[in-house]
Amino acid sequence: MNTILVTEAMSGAPLTALQSKFEVVHLPNLWKTRDALIEKVSQATALLIRNQTQIDREILSHAKQLRIIGRAGVGLDNIDMKAASENGVVVSFSPGANANAVAELTIGFAVALSRKVPAADRHARQGGWDRMQFLGQEISGRTMAVIGCGAIGRLTARKAIAMGMRVLGYDPFLDPRSPALSGIDLELVSFDEAVSRAEYISCHVPANAETHEMFDARCFAKMKRGAFFINTSRGNAVNEPALIDALASGQLAGAALDVRTEEPAPVGPLNAVDNLLLTPHIGGLTHEAQAAVLQMICSDVQAVLQGQSAVHFANFAVPQHK
Ligand code: NAD
Repeated sequence: MNTILVTEAMSGAPLTALQSKFEVVHLPNLWKTRDALIEKVSQATALLIRNQTQIDREILSHAKQLRIIGRAGVGLDNIDMKAASENGVVVSFSPGANANAVAELTIGFAVALSRKVPAADRHARQGGWDRMQFLGQEISGRTMAVIGCGAIGRLTARKAIAMGMRVLGYDPFLDPRSPALSGIDLELVSFDEAVSRAEYISCHVPANAETHEMFDARCFAKMKRGAFFINTSRGNAVNEPALIDALASGQLAGAALDVRTEEPAPVGPLNAVDNLLLTPHIGGLTHEAQAAVLQMICSDVQAVLQGQSAVHFANFAVPQHK
């Protein structure tokens, strides 16, 4: 008997289709309670998760029946990939499926910061009409640094160019002759050159040891005075106290964070910073992206549970149980 365990909020036609073929146990708050997750995971042959369920080696040691984890999204930093692979479990995810959603939000942040939209909104709501406080700048003609030129970084670059920006890119794993870059007028440079030449710096890297706090006090000091910083990737790419200092001193004119070092993010010093736009990890949350993300992982879950191969796998296409 196959049991698909869904540990976070998810809905849509692909999930309904799975429910017609398999037993689906949907507990949208299960990710919050480790003991309950351990208990439930022992019955599951497939897991459907987002980014909040932490799948570590201990959890996997209880998941004796598990054949596939479907991660609705891109970052795999909440899954111990080594342990999953050692346990023979397929990890399926949704590369590229939410890239447009995140890239659109990134450009939206760049415009919102440049035009002081959050402060102007607060001002107008309170009956204010002091328009000259909100004299802004245009992004057209400015330079954006895209740090991490994967699916989201490249789409962000395309949209920035379409808005009239120049784009610098930094990605140590991307060959400048890669076909992925064809048609994108993006200049690949070093990290220091990218962050020091741009007026807008946008982060699109995965969470790993190399990217941990790559945006720290030293990095913010290298940026142009009055630059804007945007992070829609993973919170731990940023040293948050250093960002607060850079905003308070005016070194940065503004910043937008969709992702935080701790999620759900507690109320703390960042909440008091004025020229900072905060959103609760909504980058991939559009109807279009969610439909695409769910379709990819649900079709892989169905395939694997029916003895076929996954298509969007991060390790291997079929379970490797001994
Ligand atoms: P991707 O794998 O397509 O691209 C990541 C890129 O980063 C790759 O090109 C890789 O070579 C590059 N990279 C790796 N290490 C680097 C380093 N040290 N310096 C610079 N570049 C480096 O992934 P993607 O789909 O573009 O996603 C990018 C990030 O966005 C991930 O962290 C992902 O988790 C995050 N994300 C966030 C949301 C959201 O809701 N805010 C949604 C989707 C993805």
